[in-house]
Amino acid sequence: MKHFAMVKPGTRVDLGAIDPDFHEDLSKRDPEVKERLDGARDTMRGLQERLYAEGAQSLLIVLQAMDTGGKDGTIRHVMRGLNPAGVHVASFKVPTPPELAHDFLWRVHQHVPCKGQIGVFNRSHYEDVLVVRVHDLVPEETWRRRYDQINEFEELLAETGTRIIKLFLYISKDEQKERLQARLDNPDKHWKFSVADLKERGRWDDYIAAYEDALTHCSTEAAPWFVIPANRKWYRNMVVAEIIAETLREMDPQFPAVDFDPGQIVIE
Ligand code: AMP
Ligand code: MG
Repeated sequence: MKHFAMVKPGTRVDLGAIDPDFHEDLSKRDPEVKERLDGARDTMRGLQERLYAEGAQSLLIVLQAMDTGGKDGTIRHVMRGLNPAGVHVASFKVPTPPELAHDFLWRVHQHVPCKGQIGVFNRSHYEDVLVVRVHDLVPEETWRRRYDQINEFEELLAETGTRIIKLFLYISKDEQKERLQARLDNPDKHWKFSVADLKERGRWDDYIAAYEDALTHCSTEAAPWFVIPANRKWYRNMVVAEIIAETLREMDPQFPAVDFDPGQIVIE
C-alpha cells in the first residue's frame, strides 16, 4: 500500500503541501487503474466474508470531505460488491434536538459497527470540530477539548475490537466550483445542490484550517487519518479501495473453526 496518504501521528498537517490533483501520473483509462481497483475490490469481498463469518472484529471507515468532495460517490463505487448484510452506512446531518441534548459522541456511538460488520460514517463526530468550529456553535474551549475526547473515544473502540480508518477526501476549491456548477447544470443533480453550500464555500479557508487541526490532533496509531487526493474520482476510488483492502488484510479475519468433522456427517 502507498502510505503517502497517511498522516503520521504527531506530525503537523499542511494541506497546502498536498496536491488534491495527485494521480501518480496514471490516467483514467490505464489498464493498471482497472486492475488495481478490481484487485482491491476482490480482496475486500473475500475478506469481508471472513470478517462476517469470524464475528470477532469490526472495521469503521470514517469519511469526511468538503461539500461535493465525493463521500456519496466513494461509498457507491468502493463498497459495490460487498455483502450488504455486513455493511452499515450512517450519515450524520445537522443534529436533531434529542441529539443536541446529549454529548456529541452519543449519536455516533450507536452506529459503530458491531462485530463482523464494516461501518461507514458519511460525516461523523469530526463535524463537531469542523462545522461547529467554523460557525462558532459552541465556545472555543468546548471544541478544543473535543480532540482529546475524540482520541479517547476512538481508543476505546480500537481496544474493544473495532479497527478505525479515517479518510479525508481532499478536493481543491476550483474542483468544488466545477462540481457545484455540474449540480446546477444537470436536473438530476439539483436535489444535491444547496444554496447553503455556497455560504460554506465562502468559508473555505476556515474549513481548511479546521481540517488541518483535526487531522493533526487526531491522527493516532489507533485511528489514523489519510488524506486522499480526490480531484480525480477514479483515482480517489482506487486509493480508497486499496487502503480498505490493505486494512482488512492486516486485520486478517479467519473463518471460525468448527467443532464437528464434516467427513463424519451423513445427511439422510
Ligand atoms: P449533507 O452531508 O450534504 O447531507 O449535509 C449535512 C449537513 O449537516 C452538512 O452541512 C454538515 O455540516 C451538517 N452537520 C453534520 N454534523 C453536524 C454537526 N454536528 N453540527 C452542525 N452541523 C452538522
Ligand atoms: Mg451536501
